[in-house]
Amino acid sequence: MNSFENLGLSQPVVEAIGKLGFENPTPIQEQAIPFLLEGNQDFVGLAQTGTGKTAAYGLPLLDLISPDERATKALILSPTRELGLQIADDLKKFSGNIRNLNVVAVYGGASIEEQIRKIKKGAQVIVATPGRLLDLIRRRAIDLRELEYLVLDEADEMLNMGFKEDIDAILSETNEDKRTWLFSATMPREVRNISKNYMDNPHEITVGTANTTNQNIEHHYYLMNNRDRYDALKRIVDFYPEIYGIIFCRTRRETQEVAEYLMRDGYNADALHGELTQQQRDRVMRKFKNRSLQLLVATDVAARGIDVDNLTHVLHYNLPDELEFYTHRSGRTARAGRTGISLALITPKEERKIGFLRKKLNANFTKQNIPVGNEVCEKQALHFVQRLKETEIKEEEMSSFMPSVFDELQDLDRDELIKRLAALEFSRFADYYRDAKDLNIKAGSSRRSNDRDRDYGVNESEKRLFINIGKKDGMDVPRLLNQLHRVCGVRGKNIGRIDLKGVYTFFNVESKYVDDVFKGFSDVVIAGRKVRVEEAGDEQAPSRGKRYGKPRKEFSRDNRGGRKPHRGQSRFNRESKRY
Ligand code: AMP
Repeated sequence: MNSFENLGLSQPVVEAIGKLGFENPTPIQEQAIPFLLEGNQDFVGLAQTGTGKTAAYGLPLLDLISPDERATKALILSPTRELGLQIADDLKKFSGNIRNLNVVAVYGGASIEEQIRKIKKGAQVIVATPGRLLDLIRRRAIDLRELEYLVLDEADEMLNMGFKEDIDAILSETNEDKRTWLFSATMPREVRNISKNYMDNPHEITVGTANTTNQNIEHHYYLMNNRDRYDALKRIVDFYPEIYGIIFCRTRRETQEVAEYLMRDGYNADALHGELTQQQRDRVMRKFKNRSLQLLVATDVAARGIDVDNLTHVLHYNLPDELEFYTHRSGRTARAGRTGISLALITPKEERKIGFLRKKLNANFTKQNIPVGNEVCEKQALHFVQRLKETEIKEEEMSSFMPSVFDELQDLDRDELIKRLAALEFSRFADYYRDAKDLNIKAGSSRRSNDRDRDYGVNESEKRLFINIGKKDGMDVPRLLNQLHRVCGVRGKNIGRIDLKGVYTFFNVESKYVDDVFKGFSDVVIAGRKVRVEEAGDEQAPSRGKRYGKPRKEFSRDNRGGRKPHRGQSRFNRESKRY
């Protein structure tokens, strides 16, 4: 294994990174540092985020520029303010032993005057977002004539974010002699064009394979019906009590909704999207970074450049349309040699997207079952036991009241005590999951059954039944529920959607109660007619041979006895149980 000294870095820099705990260079550092220290050629580094690329260009940069001159010698462009601040922070740490070297970050959403003041004091290294840099150039507050090194960090993200024109403008403002170093996780045509148009025969290195994701990431996916998406998310989050992750949504609205529903349901979550003010975004990011926030629900754009280590999971509430977005999203986990899980919630229709990703990224995607109630409870129980075992006992602080506690508990034996502790901790999970349905559906389930599911709100744990009694017989929803309870012993919460017609009715019932319904109604007369119950065929009233269109929605009920949301109403309202 190579050491940082062997790569040719100066002693002050080697010492500074030693203090940061960097022992050995990462692969990109090993390849890039000796080359960049030569300082005489353009460079393209294809590397995922989390590979140590900031140090790969930052360390040689600091050794190449002279701190004795006040002019700006190096400019680093970053797609977002968050990444820009992170880079500046890293560079300041790396240059802790170099006197008079100033690193200044400039970005939108903060006072430009303050930034101008800092630049005027002399900044050999400037880290900038493209928009703010152009502002500064236009105000003639920044002089890039003596620029020696320009770094384009996360170039693909800058282009994804629509900074192409800004980058063109900036590149044409800077002097021709400078060296340009470009780093990108992926190499789409637009990035290739930048290297063609603005770089001089760049030396290119790739760490890992371009367009593949970090090998330390496990890719999982879960199949569910669209209407169960939110419930599935909650199950998965409950299954990983130590989760610290980002939940990616496709729109701002979805982001806000998912975050609000998670908060409502007692999760430690918050939203990050473009409709928030800069202050709100900063507040959320601060909470997330210092881990007082466990789940960040974010849009792709808002989450760009988020640099948080130790994320255990990246969750795709909805898969992105673009392959590159998937790479960027999942690259937020498994940073700096750690492992992480990228998991996607998908419907059977979206399964082909997994096939595409699998092929393009040459990565292994494994299908996981959405945990059922018992599994979640067991996982939570073990987590609780682990916490219990690891709890630090502060003898001194507790000594004054522990005798009375022991006194109170003296009649409880060990088993009883453990059971009670567990019950106290789990009652909310146990209550919530007692009758929770299985949210899994099988891969490749037929289009027809999906359509039927959608039309009739039947889920996998339910059956749709036909009964030969309808409105003309005086039947209505309360009466039917009453009959089902009284005659068959099946409660309203186990009944799903009901579609009442003139002389018959369709209703959904949890599969395990189907026999009870058949048995209960086996010898019953309602309104002078002998009741007949049958399993409903596809869209057809049994024994009548007549086809029926979509049932009207007049008596939709969800399976907990509440009214089902109308079309267009949020699907998140459906799961109303809290804990
Ligand atoms: P980056 O890809 O530059 O965002 O780096 C990802 C993380 O890896 C950051 O937290 C760095 O501090 C850390 N890191 C970079 N290089 C090394 C190294 N050689 N040894 C240990 N950690 C590193």
